[in-house]
Amino acid sequence: MSIEFETPKPIIQTQFMLKTVADEMMRPKSRYFDEHEHEIPWDYIEFMHMAMKATGAGNLSPRDNGNKSEDKEKHPPIGYQLIAAQIEALAYGDLGMYHCLPGGGLGAAAVNSAGTPEQKEKFLTRFVEEKPTFSAMCITESGAGSDNSAIRTRAVLDEKTNQWVINGEKIFVTGGDKSFTEYEKLGKGFIVVWATIDPTAGRGGMRAFVVESGTPGVKITKLEHKLGIRVSDTAAISLVDVHVPVDNILGSATVEKSNSGFKGAMATFDATRPLVAASGVGVARAALEFLKEKLAENGVQIRYGLPRQKLTSIERDVIDMDIMLKSAWLMVVKAVWMADNKKHNALEASMSKVKAGDVTTKITQKVVEILGPLGYSREFLAEKWMRDAKITDIYEGTGQINRLVVARQILGYSGSELR
Ligand SMILES: Cc1cc2nc3c(=O)[nH]c(=O)nc-3n(C[C@H](O)[C@H](O)[C@H](O)COP(=O)(O)OP(=O)(O)OC[C@H]3O[C@@H](n4cnc5c(N)ncnc54)[C@H](O)[C@@H]3O)c2cc1C
Repeated sequence: MSIEFETPKPIIQTQFMLKTVADEMMRPKSRYFDEHEHEIPWDYIEFMHMAMKATGAGNLSPRDNGNKSEDKEKHPPIGYQLIAAQIEALAYGDLGMYHCLPGGGLGAAAVNSAGTPEQKEKFLTRFVEEKPTFSAMCITESGAGSDNSAIRTRAVLDEKTNQWVINGEKIFVTGGDKSFTEYEKLGKGFIVVWATIDPTAGRGGMRAFVVESGTPGVKITKLEHKLGIRVSDTAAISLVDVHVPVDNILGSATVEKSNSGFKGAMATFDATRPLVAASGVGVARAALEFLKEKLAENGVQIRYGLPRQKLTSIERDVIDMDIMLKSAWLMVVKAVWMADNKKHNALEASMSKVKAGDVTTKITQKVVEILGPLGYSREFLAEKWMRDAKITDIYEGTGQINRLVVARQILGYSGSELR
């Protein structure tokens, strides 16, 4: 099997459609929601839910194939590749508003990676129903972010009621508010809470639990004020004696030495890290295109094809940024191609995330630098994109942590051998 460099037709069609969404629905509201942190972009949410339902998608979770044919050679699976392209196109519109896209999100990704077929049926079908619906994933705790195996949230099986009882504190939960708070305009969402069922078992004791919105004992204690992606809610959540049905545990309740619970968390990241990378590429592309537009308005055209020594310094900068952006995108395509073809992609997923984290930060900063006062002014979105972009290098494993994952994969070390 080889990587197909020609973009598949369903992807081109979706990119075309989402360009209109980016230009017409997202960009005109970018500044407003940046300045009105924690206001919910209801028009966008409702429009996107309606549009996704109309196209039969309902949410951004991978369908087996963008093509219907059973012939995988002629029509290779492109589920993740399609999602990556959709995310890139939406992040090009606005990275924060992309995070307000209704549908599965990280919570559904965890159910997809660690749940049984019955659980997928039970928890994931809600995203195509009448109202827009959200889900979120809560792993991070104070002192347990990069090393998420250090989580202290505890789940204990109460044999009398046959329910899990969860206690703990989670922080930095993307979409936590929209997934848990019962808003009139939203369907019933859920949060996926990672907890330990056996603190003596380390990573082997980690499990994820689906906690439905409105469950007693769960409280949103804070919404984070942030540098960028300010329209996306980032919640701190406390869980006090939270009872969830016994079947809401994702994966087996038996503690084994195999670290299967932790592997569930990692499998989620293998799926989502290239998608985070794709979102970074989208915002970097927005910044780079804006720079080219402004340069063209001022009579500066980039003379592609000339020898490097004949180019101006700005032309060299722009071409270098083009190269960075393309290489980051190709790494995304490789990682999602592997996911679509059911190949183990932990290495490529982390590589794409490292690359996009770097490239996105560098490009958006360089664009502000070249634009000078126009870049620094709030009249344009370049300064906002620079603030938004930085998150690509922080969540879903920081740049440093993903570099560690890459090194472990290449050198064959375990997490405890190389930390
Ligand atoms: C906007 C936003 C949204 C988020 N969304 C979610 C979410 O939906 N769900 C969720 O569970 N979490 C979420 N997070 C949490 C995010 O994944 C963590 O913040 C991130 O993994 C870093 O963990 P930490 O905050 O504990 O930082 P720390 O682990 O304390 O890291 C601090 C610094 O130390 C470095 N560092 C740590 N360990 C090492 C090491 N071994 N080697 C070299 N350097 C190291 C890090 O790279 C970083 O630079 C979100 C965070 C933000 C900011």
